[in-house]
Amino acid sequence: MSGLLSIEEALARVLARAIALEPERVPVDAAAGRVLAEDVTARVDLPPFASSAMDGYALRAGDTPGQLPVVFRIAAGVPAERDLAAGEAMAISTGGAVPDGADSVVPIELVVETDNQLEVPSPVEAGANVRPAGGDVRAGDRVLAAGTRVTAAQIGALAAAGVPELLVAGRPRVVVLSTGTELRAPGESLGAGQIYESNAPMLAAALANAGAEVERIGPVRDDEAEHRRALERGLEADVLVSSGGVSVGPHDLVRRTLAELGVEEDFWGVAVRPGKPLAFGTRGRTLVFGLPGNPVSALVGVELFVRPALLALQGAADPGPNYETARLGSPLRRNGGRDELARARIGRDAEGTLLEPLTGQESHMIARAAGADALVFVPSGEGVLAAGETVRYLRLG
Ligand code: AMP
Ligand code: MG
Repeated sequence: MSGLLSIEEALARVLARAIALEPERVPVDAAAGRVLAEDVTARVDLPPFASSAMDGYALRAGDTPGQLPVVFRIAAGVPAERDLAAGEAMAISTGGAVPDGADSVVPIELVVETDNQLEVPSPVEAGANVRPAGGDVRAGDRVLAAGTRVTAAQIGALAAAGVPELLVAGRPRVVVLSTGTELRAPGESLGAGQIYESNAPMLAAALANAGAEVERIGPVRDDEAEHRRALERGLEADVLVSSGGVSVGPHDLVRRTLAELGVEEDFWGVAVRPGKPLAFGTRGRTLVFGLPGNPVSALVGVELFVRPALLALQGAADPGPNYETARLGSPLRRNGGRDELARARIGRDAEGTLLEPLTGQESHMIARAAGADALVFVPSGEGVLAAGETVRYLRLG
């Protein structure tokens, strides 16, 4: 594995193969987390009509201060039956349509009403407490751009703008397949030399969070026929993510079996720690990631390559990974040949965000890694990153 690719180059090769899936229509209330395949415009002005921001009285500012007869009571959804004439007031609720002829609303707290007569003691400013039609957005204006991953507030905005359905990128169907004769499911008892399988549930959670529909296969024993059967099934998905069996040991069967099944390997080996023996290839439109078995290596592979690929398949404008910057809390030794993703906790001090590297940075230490909410990027090279230095990091979870 002499020709290790840089992280950037490996990512570029993955993204070159991650072409957006066929879009589909979904109801707006099922669109959380989906990526828009087209711009979305407002169907109506928002608000659709001039509406009251307060419970109070609609009137003409020029008639105040003064005594005005209350000629109608407007509620939300129950507009006035006629225009407001000079010298009149109409009671109005928050969200009620401000009648033509009125230019302002005086809040209920600032007036006194007795026997349908309104006493307005102080002058009201023209336009007060009226939300103009289209003040939020105009019919036909763009509310969200293609490539946006839809959030809860955005679902609210789209629903308010009268949009019933959205064209979103298809959800990638992903098979997560774990390999290793030593693997047992949590709840089973461990025999000699056996460990609990942790990659499949971890990967499934991470990939579902990136918008995938996940199916799990395995654990698959380190046996050629079993590998062949399981990997063949996995290749029917849009994305196959395997864990384990991609190193150079006699029981590492994944790459060889994939090749026999017609997968063209694009690369194997990335200059990253942990996660070096990562394999990537394609068969037709199926993307195939062979992640290393060490749990932290698998996790790093997901954050650096698989998550961005899934977002790109969903048409995301910027599939990431999205690095943020912050200061390092204590020094980190750099690694000669490979960039490193070090597990850290995000904290704060008086000057802002501070990244505190965790002890236990070995690639099998998933329990230690569970305390991390950040992966700090440690560029390859000599010496150390000093405490206080500004570094790049990826947020986890
Ligand atoms: P491998 O890449 O198959 O050589 O596995 C490297 C290390 O990761 C070995 O210690 C395996 O036991 C461990 N490992 C492989 N797959 C899993 C898994 N699904 N869950 C937990 N540990 C695993
Ligand atoms: Mg193995």
